Amino acid sequence: MKIALDAGHGGIFPGAIGVNPFELREKDVMLALALKVGKLLKQTGHQIIYTRQEDKQLDENMRTDLLKRIACANDSHADLFVSLHCNVYSDPNPEGIETLYSLESPLSEKLARAIQDSVVSTFTDHVNRGVKPKDLFILRHAQMPACQLETEFISNPTQLEFLASPANQENLARAIADGISDFAETQAPAKRH
Ligand SMILES: [Zn+2]
Repeated sequence: MKIALDAGHGGIFPGAIGVNPFELREKDVMLALALKVGKLLKQTGHQIIYTRQEDKQLDENMRTDLLKRIACANDSHADLFVSLHCNVYSDPNPEGIETLYSLESPLSEKLARAIQDSVVSTFTDHVNRGVKPKDLFILRHAQMPACQLETEFISNPTQLEFLASPANQENLARAIADGISDFAETQAPAKRH
């Protein structure tokens, strides 16, 4: 399958910035995570389209930047699109993992569920916030099953430390890749011999 991976934000757009117990930028964590997910999926024979593989924006206008991300997936006829983000809130308490999809797409919901299930079954001590429909600009323009994973809250100090750990990123990447592979298997035509 051809899989489009979007590391949220980048370049002039840092995304959410956590400051407690140290500074951590969403754009940096998501780039590291996306590259790890892509590497794992390539090993299982999938083709990867990255929206970015370095710390850069795709456009200086934020809306155009988002459009260019989804255009990467649409123009390359990717079979599915996964955007990687972390969550943020104005107080430090909220935590947990959730996956967002556009309401009118049952296949997007199925993809979101496959990823969410894989991640929360790997990290059983994390709060499962479930899969949720959300009218996100980037997902609205996807021409394939698409979802946005909101990994932990960068505004929660415990979860900021979780996100910053390369070992946790590796495990998170494996869980995301497994979820995507689970979905891909259900979409692949049955092999005949
Ligand atoms: Zn984000």
